Amino acid sequence: MAAPTDSRLIELHALQLDDARALLEHDAKNSRQEAGESPTAYVQRVLDGLCELSLKDPLTGLGNRRHFRSVLERSIEAVARSGDSVLLLLLDIDHFKIINDTHGHLAGDQVLQAIAGCLAGCVRPMDTVARYGGEEFAVILPNCRPLFGRAVAERIRQTVESLPIAVAPLLSVQVTLSIGGAYAPEWVRSTADLWLERADQQLYRAKSEGRNRISLEQPQELSVSAEEKGLLFGQLGPDEAAATGMAPGDVSHDAQGNVTNRVNA
Ligand code: GH3
Ligand code: MG
Ligand code: MG
Repeated sequence: MAAPTDSRLIELHALQLDDARALLEHDAKNSRQEAGESPTAYVQRVLDGLCELSLKDPLTGLGNRRHFRSVLERSIEAVARSGDSVLLLLLDIDHFKIINDTHGHLAGDQVLQAIAGCLAGCVRPMDTVARYGGEEFAVILPNCRPLFGRAVAERIRQTVESLPIAVAPLLSVQVTLSIGGAYAPEWVRSTADLWLERADQQLYRAKSEGRNRISLEQPQELSVSAEEKGLLFGQLGPDEAAATGMAPGDVSHDAQGNVTNRVNA
């Protein structure tokens, strides 16, 4: 008896690339198979092009909101596993509507492009810069200790503030940013939505306190119990334990190196 066919399965040989090609046709060389190119390489190139389209903001070339969300979700998973310090910054151009109203929508677009380039130049290659919405951007900074978070945000704020943006011959404008930020809670599972909401609250605060300023949430204390710390760092010597933030005496060892004493942190 023939195996039943599942109508939900895609028949690969019947796949049409026309829609994909239509989506990519703004870039003609991307949508046509080149002479000598294998079908597999061609399909792969079309798929790569579609991935780029689905993850990039066309105006600024930055990652779009979808890309940002997926990096945010991955970051929160990584933080829960490693305890890395990851800072999320939300940045909103101040009084951007006035730029549009005064100089036109095209000038507004030029400002968005200039700010996007400026933000990308202010951070490390490992950081993610995305266009989050109309005149809002987001930056995810992995491996960013709290001491450095404010310095990075301040560098961004100052660089944007002093950037002349040409919007017409002999006419340049300047804009400022309000920046809100929050760290992913270390060692604790949370949700991307909650993290985003905390950063958004800080952005709201930066706006309401006068704009062109930064508001960062105080990083939360390490919320790992002494018992868990003992399990995590119990095999470390005193110097190494100190480097983890544990006070000397939090952990002691017996002759076999087993943890014998744990003091509540
Ligand atoms: P605030 O300081 O409170 O953020 O004020 P604002 O004027 O920046 O904020 P508001 O939300 O009032 O206006 C945002 C404007 O951004 C309105 C909208 O037309 C404009 N905008 C959104 N997306 C684009 C875009 O892609 N291009 C251009 N030129 N303007 C855009
Ligand atoms: Mg806004
Ligand atoms: Mg704004």
